[in-house]
Amino acid sequence: MRKTIVAGNWKMNGTRESIKTLLDAITDRAMKIDGLVTLVCPPAVYLSQVVDQIADAPVAVGAQNVSEQSKGAYTGEWSLEMLQDLGCKYVILGHSERRSLFGESDELVAEKVAATLEAGLVPVLCVGETLGQREAGDALVVVNSQISATLQRIGIEGFASVVVAYEPVWAIGTGLTATPGDAQEVHAAIRAQLAEKDAIIADNLSILYGGSMNAANAAELLAQQDIDGGLIGGASLKADEFLTICAAA
Ligand code: PGA
Repeated sequence: MRKTIVAGNWKMNGTRESIKTLLDAITDRAMKIDGLVTLVCPPAVYLSQVVDQIADAPVAVGAQNVSEQSKGAYTGEWSLEMLQDLGCKYVILGHSERRSLFGESDELVAEKVAATLEAGLVPVLCVGETLGQREAGDALVVVNSQISATLQRIGIEGFASVVVAYEPVWAIGTGLTATPGDAQEVHAAIRAQLAEKDAIIADNLSILYGGSMNAANAAELLAQQDIDGGLIGGASLKADEFLTICAAA
């Protein structure tokens, strides 16, 4: 069964105080619904605070990144074992900001996905084309090749435990959103690519849409056949808006 996942990517925002307020508002009203995962991904330094505060509320916690290394002399990094130790279940990997600002290649992202699966956490693998690539008609080629890099590393069996997020780079934080039809086309293409290897795994895969999803456009996007949730940046910093999106899912 495909899970519906609504994930808040808080990026590098918040303070102890503002995170407490935001999370209080979310945990107060988050609903426990079978098949729906409500996920928050705070900055790493606040993960511990967030895990403690969530307690028994039906909200899962994810990191925004992790090292592919297990331990040692990697100043400024954190490991999967540390995330496990904290009680963190998900890790966003290959976000376009990691790829473009921090030089993460398809190969490194694939390595991180493999390490995350091995540790028993759930990778949220982000893919997406730039505006130039879309305008050149290359959106599907780009996304399929990003998926291929990870597929080569973990095999189709790995995708049984992966969540994919399609995030067109030009839609992230810009207020521009892919039309439901354009997003659906890419989501269907990702599923078809994986279905060539294993139809059941492809059918069970949750594929989230991200890129300026908000309370106003979520319902229409989420109604598409192959859109199984959202990865929400800006709108996830407002509890009301985030919960409206969760309700639409
Ligand atoms: P946005 O960000 O919702 O602010 O566009 C989405 C993301 O980067 O995951």
